[in-house]
Amino acid sequence: MKLNQNKKGSTQSDDNIHLQAIFESAIDGIITIDQNGRIETVNPAAAITFGYQPSEIIGQNIRILMPSPYRQEHNGYIHNYLETGVKKIIGIGREVKGLRKDGSVFPMRLAVSEVKLHDRIIFTGFIHDVSDIREAQEQIQQLNKDLERRVEERTEKLADVVNRLIASNKALEFEVRERKNIENALRLQEKELQQALEKEKELSELKTRFVSMASHEFRTPLATILSSIELIEAYSKDVQVEKRKKHIIRVKEAVSNLNNILNDFLSLSRLEEGRVEAEPEFFRLQSFLDSFVDEIKLLLRPGQLIDPQFSHIDVELWLDKRILKNILINLLSNAIKYSPEGGVISLKATISQNLLSVEVADNGIGIPVEDQQHLFTRFFRAHNVENIKGTGLGLNIVRRYLDILGGTISYKSQLGEGSVFKISVPVK
Ligand code: ADP
Repeated sequence: MKLNQNKKGSTQSDDNIHLQAIFESAIDGIITIDQNGRIETVNPAAAITFGYQPSEIIGQNIRILMPSPYRQEHNGYIHNYLETGVKKIIGIGREVKGLRKDGSVFPMRLAVSEVKLHDRIIFTGFIHDVSDIREAQEQIQQLNKDLERRVEERTEKLADVVNRLIASNKALEFEVRERKNIENALRLQEKELQQALEKEKELSELKTRFVSMASHEFRTPLATILSSIELIEAYSKDVQVEKRKKHIIRVKEAVSNLNNILNDFLSLSRLEEGRVEAEPEFFRLQSFLDSFVDEIKLLLRPGQLIDPQFSHIDVELWLDKRILKNILINLLSNAIKYSPEGGVISLKATISQNLLSVEVADNGIGIPVEDQQHLFTRFFRAHNVENIKGTGLGLNIVRRYLDILGGTISYKSQLGEGSVFKISVPVK
């Protein structure tokens, strides 16, 4: 209200003074130019901003306050506007560059307005130096960049640390795995050593057992041999032929008994030491069995008969003949040993579906039911064979030989009636 009153009550010259004072004391620079760009008025703030005395620039073209390329384009702006009315800066504020007297360039906010006087048009430029703001912005930008760079550096360092951690982790994992491998290898070695030790112990036990068994079992046949030979020597007359023959048979039996014991033990110790491996060869089954029967006949006791029943055996086999023979000798010699004089031992053999089956049956003493489950245990002998010589090793050896050939064994026996042992071996 007070201002209005003042305005209403004031004179033209009062107003001029008033405006002049505002113009002089304004903080922002104010410059007016005519249509040709010639500077008409400059307030002190504008003069200070550009580093000139007002008198140095009044009358000059406004271009001297502009750096390239604005300087070259400036006249064009005013002409374009006056001709087309299209505003590029006039009536719109924008940030441009100013040129100080000392040649330095600075950013400034420039608002140009068109002032229509009664006889002509002039343009007023309001100038605000934004160097400080720009500087602060640049500083902030720089700070931001520094910050970003430091973050990047830190990230890189962190990534480096993480990578090194991953690498050392991998190295550790590798070490742990290596250690585990070594540990496992050591354990395995320990186990193998333990097994070897046990095997060694078992072998030495076996030998001890055999020595004690042999010293006991050898004594009787050796005594028999000795006394029989003495008697043969004594029965020198022709009429005593029969008596001599009887003792010769006894000597033979005793020698074969000793032979059996030694064979069993040799087989077992070779098996125990893992020295037995299948060495297959081609042979004709028919001729193998025929000559086997001939050999067995020599072992038969008085009055015993062997009854071979073979079918489909006219074939050539790929098998370890030696092992097969050993198995059959063991089964046959048991049948002979545990059958009465005059007993019949049947030997059946057949091939069917790549399987060789051999069955040895006797009508001998049989095996007590309670003993049957132990038949394949080393040194085991049934209760009813106390008076018959044997080592208790034969069937154990048979089973182990069959394992090597991939075969199986089964049996049936009845006390006092007889026994049947049957083996099956896969063949080619
Ligand atoms: P051994 O040297 O005592 O014959 P084996 O291991 O060959 O040893 O046989 C173990 C035991 O099985 C024998 O002691 C015997 O009691 C019993 N046995 C094996 N074959 C027969 C059989 N054909 N008849 C009766 N008993 C048998």
